[in-house]
Amino acid sequence: MSNQECDLGLIGLGTMGRNFVLNMADHGTAVAVYNRTAEKTREFLAQEVGSRPIRAGYALPDFVGLLQPPRAIILLVAAGDPVDAVIKELLPLMAAGDLIIDGGNSHFTDTNRRAKILASKGLNFIGMGISGGEQGARYGPSLMPGGPREAYERVAPIMEAAAAKVNGEPCVTYLGPGSSGHYVKMVHNGIEYGVIELLAESYDLLKRGLGLKPEELAEVYDRWNSSELNSFLLEITARIFRRADERTGQPLVNVILDKARQKGTGMWTSWDAMDLQVPTPTIDVAVVLRGLSGHKEQRLAAARVLKGPQKAIALNQEQFLARLQNALYAAIITTYAQGLALLKKASETYAYDLNLEAVVRIWRGGCIIRASLLEEIRQAYVATPDLANLLLDPHLGRAFMDRQKDLREVVKAAIDLGLPAAGLAVSLAYFDAYRSAQLPANLIQAQRDFFGAHTYERLDLPGTFHTAWEEE
Ligand code: NDP
Repeated sequence: MSNQECDLGLIGLGTMGRNFVLNMADHGTAVAVYNRTAEKTREFLAQEVGSRPIRAGYALPDFVGLLQPPRAIILLVAAGDPVDAVIKELLPLMAAGDLIIDGGNSHFTDTNRRAKILASKGLNFIGMGISGGEQGARYGPSLMPGGPREAYERVAPIMEAAAAKVNGEPCVTYLGPGSSGHYVKMVHNGIEYGVIELLAESYDLLKRGLGLKPEELAEVYDRWNSSELNSFLLEITARIFRRADERTGQPLVNVILDKARQKGTGMWTSWDAMDLQVPTPTIDVAVVLRGLSGHKEQRLAAARVLKGPQKAIALNQEQFLARLQNALYAAIITTYAQGLALLKKASETYAYDLNLEAVVRIWRGGCIIRASLLEEIRQAYVATPDLANLLLDPHLGRAFMDRQKDLREVVKAAIDLGLPAAGLAVSLAYFDAYRSAQLPANLIQAQRDFFGAHTYERLDLPGTFHTAWEEE
């Protein structure tokens, strides 16, 4: 290849970048690569590239010189300041009409800011969420691009070739303008947090409630993965329980410290959901409990003095397993319902004009939250494109209601056992609140008016009212 022969450039040869380059090259795309630390680029070329159509630049101008104009460059660098730093360095080397695609987990407000700056210089900017981790990037991720449509169309064939396929359909589509792609990826991660929390709670109930050992847990999750619960997260959960630690020979899960870390996307989902006043309690609780898990020292001290229920309760194993399977499915439905309700509201608020059927379609393969349930959800949007909440879909609403008794029983058992199952509990409370024609918010309004003269509305008259509560 001579200069200017590469179809696309990629900056950032970390976990995602390296694998995504190999994926695109395997699908016939000539890719130029650049990485801040040149040693990493050399290693990549020497050890992984082989005869693939991949070329490297060791200085940014050389890298940019390898690209066919108008140029398209994907950034897969750490989110936050590094994205701004790389864009700043690239800017003097770019020409009007060129395209920068940020494939990292950037906050959507940063994407809006960057798009504005680049547009003022005649450059296109796409924020593209990528999901699927290392394996997804290498063999077929789900890609969530948002930004100027014409700019995306230019790289669409490359992205479609590299994306995961479900029934021959690529798990990528143009989602909408501005930061819509990064917003959709953020909510994808929020749903991921929620489902991971629910699975962790089910593990706790089976381990501490039923006393199951890792090999028994592997069988349970494998069996569930062959049911309607089929999903990537369930599949890897079963595989985790089978893995032995090389050092001790113990099940690996038993030697892993119980402190869950986070990079922020779940918390961002909760923040924006609260800003937009869309309830996402299962996601919120997932973030909260990761935080609580981090206080290991305090938990160890508290475990010595704070006692839960003293009386052991006996569970019927077969019955409890069947209940928990149904409870999980019901709670997972509400988690997707919360995330998608947030996307609907965000689409209206930020003018993303999202097609939720398309969003769900590209989540069916490649990404971390891929699950058989997504096809049911997709059908719900085919039937009612502007569905306000998944629970209002007749099929999914029925699926929840048919399993609600089991969810209630599981939550009761968790309470009796003194085991924290807040994700399962709030998923149920979400359902109960959402289906309540009357909530106690009338009392809240009265209290607000009492102490702060915040006024209230009435059921029987239009307008706002204030009562002089102190005057009896
Ligand atoms: P890694 O930590 O593996 O790699 C980070 C890359 O960013 C390296 O190439 C590093 O270069 C580069 N970098 C960091 N700081 C700078 C800087 N100031 N200037 C230039 N380059 C810099 O990250 P990942 O590949 O895991 O993640 C990349 C992006 O993709 C992130 O936004 C992440 O959130 C997102 N993502 C990650 C997923 C995953 O499973 N890992 C899944 C989906 C999205 P150097 O070698 O010089 O340090």
